[in-house]
Amino acid sequence: MSNFQILTSIYKTLLKTFGHQNWWPAETADEIIIGAILTQNVSWNNVEKAIINLKQYNLCTLEQIHHSNIDEIAPLIRSTLYFNRKAKKLQNFTEFLFTYYNGDVCKMFQTEIRTLRKQLLQINGIGEETADSILLYAGAKPVFVIDAYTKRIFTRLGLTRQNWNYAEYQKFFMKNLPEDIELFNDYHAQIVYLGKHFCKRKPLCDECPLNSFCERNKLSI
Ligand code: SF4
Repeated sequence: MSNFQILTSIYKTLLKTFGHQNWWPAETADEIIIGAILTQNVSWNNVEKAIINLKQYNLCTLEQIHHSNIDEIAPLIRSTLYFNRKAKKLQNFTEFLFTYYNGDVCKMFQTEIRTLRKQLLQINGIGEETADSILLYAGAKPVFVIDAYTKRIFTRLGLTRQNWNYAEYQKFFMKNLPEDIELFNDYHAQIVYLGKHFCKRKPLCDECPLNSFCERNKLSI
């Protein structure tokens, strides 16, 4: 089977087993961007608590964040760890948005995708995974998001190598899948679900829907 066929079969199996994941869990593009920054190194449950707090204090839009200060934001996002640093990252993003795009997210997403990605990566506190999550989930741009679950699962499956860097992982998916925003969106969400519930640090291979594809599982039989 080609990599295209394997990746497609894996997605179909995950979709059939888990159903469509309907990501990103947010109401607006602003909320997606805020969530993408806050979720660095913490679980989504912790981000949800922070988002609820921000909404309660009318600080859950990029404009509101831009016109507030770190001391107001930080206590509300305490659940996301490194909350002072994350408050600063949120403001770094809004500073960029207001400086270059007059605070207009739609205008920002009109920028050519590679140019915008480079710009996002220049913001202090925005790494590749966060930039790509913003591009895909808030901007509906065709980029495949790579995270720790992706690396763990696809290396265990025997399709990628642990020592690959972010760009190598991303190239593997983008080269072997059609450029389809909806597919990229739900594929990443399925990977996260599988990583959380089956392909954990200690994997539950017997119950995993991908066990017939998996090198690691074959080796342990
Ligand atoms: S079979 Fe096991 S190692 Fe392979 S993807 Fe599933 S949980 Fe991970």
